Amino acid sequence: MSGAPGASDAAKDELDLEAGRRLFAREAVFVLGVADMTQLPRDDLPEVAFAGRSNVGKSSLLNALTGRKSLARASNAPGRTRELNFFRLDDRIVLVDLPGYGYAKAPKKKIERWTRLTRDYLRGRANLKRVFLLIDARHGIRPADEEVMSALDAAAVSYQIVLTKLDKIAVTDHEKPIADAAATIIRRPAAHPRIIATSSTKGVGLDVLRAEIAALVERRHG
Ligand code: GDP
Repeated sequence: MSGAPGASDAAKDELDLEAGRRLFAREAVFVLGVADMTQLPRDDLPEVAFAGRSNVGKSSLLNALTGRKSLARASNAPGRTRELNFFRLDDRIVLVDLPGYGYAKAPKKKIERWTRLTRDYLRGRANLKRVFLLIDARHGIRPADEEVMSALDAAAVSYQIVLTKLDKIAVTDHEKPIADAAATIIRRPAAHPRIIATSSTKGVGLDVLRAEIAALVERRHG
């Protein structure tokens, strides 16, 4: 290989971006919603899951990523989604919408049940390639997020921070939440070092996130 240092990295990034574009040009199809571990769908495709505090912008991001207005209902009340929702993309990868956490107003029994379900899923899913952990760029990583990160570290499940709602921060301040998040995860063994900053409303960072997901598909088959 010749060329300037980093040239092959840049070429790989470009290939991943193109793979991401192609993958997400296909329609994401809802497979099923699960309220119990016995109902999990087959695990023959690689999976990536999306987690985050209620109201972090998870539904909006999933809709923006897949180009569907209501793949995940963006209008749902905080804490209302209590199921794991599975979407198949191009018969090559499954996107899993995990319940939002950190919402205190739901009945305690219900919180416990869906927390347990989510934890059991995260611990026991062999085809789970990565969890995208969504963090509101304005608020940064909070204690509830740290708890989830600790659980993922303990289970050796790879996760990657995705900042949301970047458009709500002045452009001159965009680097700060990225640097803060990078500093927080530096000693966390299962955290992916690259932070992805996104805005669903402005379409920022979606191509990078699609590329990350496409790279996980390619790795399995290549
Ligand atoms: P969820 O509870 O994590 O699924 O969050 P939603 O996707 O329902 O979003 C929560 C609120 O944040 C809604 O009012 C969205 O319109 C808003 N929101 C989500 N993403 C963005 C974004 O990228 N930029 C801005 N400005 N608002 C957003």
